[in-house]
Amino acid sequence: MSEEKQGADGVVSRQRNISIVIPVYNEEPNLDELVDRCMKVGLSMGRSFEIILVNDGSSDGSEQKIAGACEQYPDAVSGVILNRNYGQHNAIMAGFELCRGEIIVTLDADLQNPPEEIPRLVECMEKGYDVVGSVRKNRQDSFFRKIASLVTNKVARHYTGVMMTDYGCMLRAYRRHIVDAMIQCTERSTFIPVLANSFAGSATEIEVNHAGRGHGDSKYNLWKLVNLQFDLLTSMSTLPLRLLTIIGVLIAAFGVGFGLFLGIMRIIHGPEWAAQGVFTLFAMLFVFVGVQFIGMGLLGEYLGRIYHDVRARPRFFIRRLVGDLKKPGQNS
Ligand code: UDP
Ligand code: MG
Repeated sequence: MSEEKQGADGVVSRQRNISIVIPVYNEEPNLDELVDRCMKVGLSMGRSFEIILVNDGSSDGSEQKIAGACEQYPDAVSGVILNRNYGQHNAIMAGFELCRGEIIVTLDADLQNPPEEIPRLVECMEKGYDVVGSVRKNRQDSFFRKIASLVTNKVARHYTGVMMTDYGCMLRAYRRHIVDAMIQCTERSTFIPVLANSFAGSATEIEVNHAGRGHGDSKYNLWKLVNLQFDLLTSMSTLPLRLLTIIGVLIAAFGVGFGLFLGIMRIIHGPEWAAQGVFTLFAMLFVFVGVQFIGMGLLGEYLGRIYHDVRARPRFFIRRLVGDLKKPGQNS
């Protein structure tokens, strides 16, 4: 599956044309079929390829399954075992740091992204694009997820300036230099499709099929999903902070206007009228307090992320590598 090349330093480096990076979190029942189908697709393309399975701290038998696949296909499959769960995007980053392909494809391990679509992505890459995204045809997700995606995609499109319809679909292909650029970004809360598009000179998207989950449930509970949305929002821009100031000014202006209005009404109709308006004032107060809390929360989201980045802890720790992968900077 690889072409051996001897570099000037005598080190034999194994060049791959295509790397398939797959984050795995408790996907044991899906792994056999996933590896089989990816292998078939890889072989059918007639190019050198590698499959990198990143185990994101699974607590089921995924690690053993990955090790088994590496043994079965030592030339094509490698495993990166992280010491705990760092989240899908960080797991993909770990795969990015170790992969060697010219074209890097990511997909989910749950078989929702059919591996059979990879050749079409690669074909599209050949036209010279830096990034090829994908749009899920007949998306097999819950209504709630679809609505959340709709909003997210609209916002992401606006801020990255790259016209893409579906930022949530991880069946994507990137050129080597885009992945190299992403690896250099040290922020911990990252959303890969948006990050990639901020470096892409040219990007496009194609329609791909979307299947129901092979086995198991989504690994995103509501909390993780909210976290991901905030990662996406804060990774794109600081505009929400400015928006906050604008909303604050508008509300303050409204408050002053309303105060004046109450004053005038009191002069015209006497104190009884104003006293009966007490509860309106309470209602207004709640609105203001609410807005303040939202504002502070939003500030907190940015601050929290800045705090994480200032601490500059590594994004992940690799416990072990299975197959012939080398840690970055390690030659032999
Ligand atoms: N995943 C991961 N770490 C996590 C959550 C998910 O590596 O903390 C992987 C998961 O195994 C799958 C992919 O990311 O390969 C997408 O997850 P999932 O299918 O649960 O997300 P959904 O399709 O519901 O958006
Ligand atoms: Mg899924």
